[in-house]
Amino acid sequence: MKCPFCGAPDTSVIDSRVSESGDSIRRRRRCMVCDKRFTTYETVELRLPQVVKSNGNREEFSEPKLREGFSRALHKRPVPTEYVDQAIANVIKQVLALGEREIPSRMLGEMVMQALKPLDKVAYIRFASVYKSFQDVDDFRHAIRDLDA
Ligand SMILES: [Zn+2]
Repeated sequence: MKCPFCGAPDTSVIDSRVSESGDSIRRRRRCMVCDKRFTTYETVELRLPQVVKSNGNREEFSEPKLREGFSRALHKRPVPTEYVDQAIANVIKQVLALGEREIPSRMLGEMVMQALKPLDKVAYIRFASVYKSFQDVDDFRHAIRDLDA
C-alpha cells in the first residue's frame, strides 16, 4: 500500500486487529520513508454482480427477479416454499462465491436450472424450455435426458 503522505511504495504493517464484529481487519501502517502512520481497513466485498444479458445490456442482480423465475417455473407445482427459499439462497451463494463483478445471464440461467432439477422435474423442463427457447425437438430431448443424469 502506497503512503498517502509522500507516495512512497513501501509501508509496513505495525499492528493489525480484527474488528469487534469480526467483519473487518484494521491495520496500522507506517511509511518507511516519511515515518508517518495511517490506518487501513480490510473488509470482504460481498456484492452481487451485474448481470450481463445476451444483448450486452447490464442490469443489477435482483433477488425478486430470481424468485419470480422460480415461481413461474414452479407455478402450481407441489414444492414447499421452504425448499424454494433454500434453492434461491443457494443460487445467490453460488453467485457470490464467484466473486465476479459481472455474470452472464446465461450462467445465471444454468444455475437456476441446476437448482430446479432436484426440486421438481416439471419446473425444470418448464424453465429450460423458456430459458433455452428450445429450437427443435432435439433440444428438448437433451433436456429430458439430462434429467436422468
Ligand atoms: Zn510516506
